[in-house]
Amino acid sequence: MDNNKLAELLFPEIDKLPSFWEQKYQKRNLSQGEEVTRYAPSPTGFVHFGALFASLADFLVAKKSKGVVFLRIEDTDKKREVLGGVQEIVNTLKSFNINFDEGESFGGEYGPYIQSEREEIYKTYAKELVKKGKAYPCFCSESDLEHMREKQEKNKENIGYHGEYAVCRNLSYEQIEQKIKNGEKFVLRFKCPYNENDKVEINDIIRGKRVVPQNINDVVIIKSNGLPPYNLAHAVDDHLMQTTLVIRGDEWFSSLSEHLQLFEALGFTPPKYAHISPIQKVDENGNRRKLSKRKDPEADMNFFAENGYPVGAVKDYILTLLNSDFEQWRAQNPKEDILNFDFSLKKMSASGSLFDIKKLTDISKNYISGLTNIEVYDLAKSWAEKYDKQLYKNFVDNKNYWLDILNIDRNIPKPRKDLSHFKEIFETYNYMFDEEFIGKNILKENNIFELLSAYDKEAVLKVLQEYPKFYDECDEQSVWFDKIKDLSEKIGFAREVKEFKQNPEKFKGHCGDVSTIIRVAITGRTQTPNLYEILKLLGKDSISKRLKLALEVLNSK
Ligand code: GLU
Repeated sequence: MDNNKLAELLFPEIDKLPSFWEQKYQKRNLSQGEEVTRYAPSPTGFVHFGALFASLADFLVAKKSKGVVFLRIEDTDKKREVLGGVQEIVNTLKSFNINFDEGESFGGEYGPYIQSEREEIYKTYAKELVKKGKAYPCFCSESDLEHMREKQEKNKENIGYHGEYAVCRNLSYEQIEQKIKNGEKFVLRFKCPYNENDKVEINDIIRGKRVVPQNINDVVIIKSNGLPPYNLAHAVDDHLMQTTLVIRGDEWFSSLSEHLQLFEALGFTPPKYAHISPIQKVDENGNRRKLSKRKDPEADMNFFAENGYPVGAVKDYILTLLNSDFEQWRAQNPKEDILNFDFSLKKMSASGSLFDIKKLTDISKNYISGLTNIEVYDLAKSWAEKYDKQLYKNFVDNKNYWLDILNIDRNIPKPRKDLSHFKEIFETYNYMFDEEFIGKNILKENNIFELLSAYDKEAVLKVLQEYPKFYDECDEQSVWFDKIKDLSEKIGFAREVKEFKQNPEKFKGHCGDVSTIIRVAITGRTQTPNLYEILKLLGKDSISKRLKLALEVLNSK
């Protein structure tokens, strides 16, 4: 068969040669060791947690090697595409400060970075494969392929278009021409040069070296709509965009031999590959399974934005999943840029990392505790602006008060770690607002009876009645606490815990119990940051209103 004639018949609209594209996309000026990586998502729905995980790996590898990282949108599967999907990907990545050097919505010399806009380029290479006798049109219908599959299943043969099943391999030029004249639709298939029993050695950066069976199928490389599937599209793009290292999900691992065959047939040097395992989680029944888009709200990156986990905390968490020694590094370098961490693909787990919301919560608490009050205020306010308008107004109207609240127990060697995400910020500090605390009677809501059930009711009432006489907002903290001790002594509690422990029968409790009673009456909680600071911020008026309210609630039972 005259392959050149066939190529013209199949792709009459393509007037360029591969050399045109090779010249258009100039060689990158890379120095030894510099890696070009890409994050190449398909816009098929919300952005998955695993997407951020993979893109961060791409980003770190490129940046640490002083190379290039770009964003390519792989949208040749039009059936799976979701409206607005591209924008969603771009917005999410930008919100996590993953700033690509090039790519869709970032610009660059190797675009377009959206595959559906590169049809002419793919077809140029596909045409070339036809000219070299390495590709041919296939007119088999869905039902032809279904029959083939059934027969192969029955005969326990390899499923796919190969060997005697690859019937369109044998069509003559005249037959092909006639079918095209009849308006029959075709796909272009790669003429696979390998047979059963052929093997290939592959080398994956995370999984190591393996010998695997060669792909034997004549896979589709141009679909009937003119666009290629992933296989040809990524080979052409990663060649022209000069990717040196492909980091991608391990669902692609089994097609690696097929992909390498295409690189070989096209005369391209393949990039290095690193296949990453999906993020997993332990489900309600204790079983490990893939973090699922359908079942797990935390699989959607919007979950983190909506709940107000700081971007820096989520990134720190992802880093601990990528490389387990990150956590120790972070403890020693709390303020250091993640780019200074010694990230390596080789340190990634081949079996998959486990998503654990408790761990994220701890990391986030730790992260927020290391910020200044102004930083927390700004982040929380931005979160509220988008997700809680009423709280946003509160932040704006009471800026200085919020800054004071957020400053309690902050600039000390062991800062408080009571906040993991901004959705809970108001609930965490609602007791600092009279309208909320008194207006909603938080004491009743939080069940003050229960909180103080360990203490004798008479003693509790006494503490609350007497405390206003002992409180002076001008007192320094040590004097303030001495006065709690004075009150303790006056109403039959030990001044010192030690004293109580030596003779518990002599006392109703100790000074710590007295401050707990005051804390509960003032905040509706047994644990809060520094009570002295809280009282100072609330002021005398609010304190006496709260003590009165506590007495009322307690006396109502
Ligand atoms: N578009 C592919 C996907 O979303 C990406 C594979 C790759 O990174 O090459 O699974």
